[in-house]
Amino acid sequence: MTDRPYVIDVMISAKAIAARIEELSEEIASEFEGTDKLVVVGLLRGSFVFIADLVRELDLPIEVDFLEASSYGDGMESSREVRILKDLRGAIEGRDVLVVEDIVDTGHTLSHVSKLLQSRNPARLKTIALLDKPSRREVDFRADHIGFEIPDEFVVGYGIDFAQRNRNLPHIGKVRFTDEA
Ligand code: 5GP
Ligand code: MG
Ligand code: MG
Repeated sequence: MTDRPYVIDVMISAKAIAARIEELSEEIASEFEGTDKLVVVGLLRGSFVFIADLVRELDLPIEVDFLEASSYGDGMESSREVRILKDLRGAIEGRDVLVVEDIVDTGHTLSHVSKLLQSRNPARLKTIALLDKPSRREVDFRADHIGFEIPDEFVVGYGIDFAQRNRNLPHIGKVRFTDEA
């Protein structure tokens, strides 16, 4: 499937992402105003660019941790079964936590991870996703903060891959196969 020729059309420019992240960082800063220390948890690997840009706009005392959950394999279909491949390094009991995700699609990944982390009794747990595809939802879940709502398109770039490639694109693009009519 990944041998098929494709091009990537720009969907959200790097400039538009940067402007939205400034707004999101203000939402987060007011939500967690007065926090002792916020643990910002990036979901690997897709959120690594977003979390890097987001934390540099946040004027709050933070720690950064990562968790890797698998949902998609290397293809374009969600597997629905969520497994934890790499857990947090630190304890979050009694702490303020912000989980950072690239995309909420069916909702399985972020709802599973939220429940897992909630069971560790954080003081507060909030979620942020750069992208949301509400039309694809299979479980009742909504992130507390959302960058952009997008239609049901397979996107890449800004940390998000297609078969592990294209994570380094500065914008969000959509894959268009060129062997289709
Ligand atoms: P969910 O569990 O909500 O279905 O899936 C969330 C994960 O699926 C995202 O974190 C992302 O890794 C992957 N995903 C969902 N939509 C897309 C997409 O359009 N492109 C890519 N590359 N991954 C996606
Ligand atoms: Mg992901
Ligand atoms: Mg992926």
